[in-house]
Amino acid sequence: MANQLKLPYGLRDGQLWHISQVATGLACKCICLGCGALLVARNSVGNVKVAHFAHYQALECTTGLQTAIHLAAKDIIAQHKQLCLPGMAGHLSFTPAFWESFSFDARPYADELFDTLGFMGTEFISSSYETDNYYSFPARLVVLDEVILEKRTGDIIPDIMVRIGSKWLLVEVAVTHFVDEEKKTKIRAMGLPAIEIDLSKIRRDISMSDLEELIIRGEQHKKWLNNPELRRVVSQRRQRYFEECRAKIERLHAKQLREEARQAAREQWRANQATKSPAERALAQQRKQEFYSKNCRPIVERIAGGLEFVHHVDDCPKAAHQLLDKPYANVQWDCSNCLAFRGYRPYRTAIVCLYEYLRHKGDII
Ligand code: SF4
Ligand SMILES: [Zn+2]
Repeated sequence: MANQLKLPYGLRDGQLWHISQVATGLACKCICLGCGALLVARNSVGNVKVAHFAHYQALECTTGLQTAIHLAAKDIIAQHKQLCLPGMAGHLSFTPAFWESFSFDARPYADELFDTLGFMGTEFISSSYETDNYYSFPARLVVLDEVILEKRTGDIIPDIMVRIGSKWLLVEVAVTHFVDEEKKTKIRAMGLPAIEIDLSKIRRDISMSDLEELIIRGEQHKKWLNNPELRRVVSQRRQRYFEECRAKIERLHAKQLREEARQAAREQWRANQATKSPAERALAQQRKQEFYSKNCRPIVERIAGGLEFVHHVDDCPKAAHQLLDKPYANVQWDCSNCLAFRGYRPYRTAIVCLYEYLRHKGDII
């Protein structure tokens, strides 16, 4: 038999009975919910591995089990008037359309982008998941105001419909059949949220209380078939994330272009120097050093974290960092990556910072 799950519920006096609640054999006085045939309760200890109902002098039907579990699930949900809705988590991966939307080849900046966003290294641990490319909405227990079974809605008949405040949610219970693509498409077209509770692999001897726990408070057996609100929130977050990344990529690209232009200018300057006499070259070198010494900023050594020494430059003109309203820069992390940085003075007592000069030239930053 493809599906080994056996009938755990029978119907008597219009009420659902679990196999553990009835007398053995025909004395259970139950009928099948699917075909109405008389049932025999096989629940005596010893010769039965898994207690269940069997059809009496009739073929086992296929609808009995599905109907019984549906009814049990509906009964449980209606009784408890609560339901744990599953969470949702995922990554906001870049789409090919995102990369193609740049006027330059943006992919080479991907690694650098992830570094600056703090996806790697220790920063990842301290950064918020919500602000990076990961989103996670937790499962939550909701109170239900109304529970309706198998009522035609638009083009479909959902197993259960529940109302939470003014909003309706469809609940599909899968025992032998899962919601197919056609039904999913219809649910999406209706714009209603829907979850599927997968009961296809539940233990055949599951007790009523365990089934209650699984249906009401369980999360693992549930998934969203459709959730327009979450989709909207994720799409807004994706949009925001893409925009942040786009701005960062464009900044990285602009920095790269400036670096290339500067490199070309340096090469041009060297080529010009090569055409000059040794005396002219010495003079140019001297002027350069004089210019650099006018644009020095002293390096200050400070103790950080109680033990380590860090090297700072106070009054950083681009205010890489602020401490008590005073701007400063970390030489190792800020200056060495800054376009205004032109190296160290002898013995590393100061750095050459051309920020003001470049800004004056309109070339920065
Ligand atoms: S080199 Fe850049 S980071 Fe360093 S002090 Fe100058 S402007 Fe600030
Ligand atoms: Zn039957």
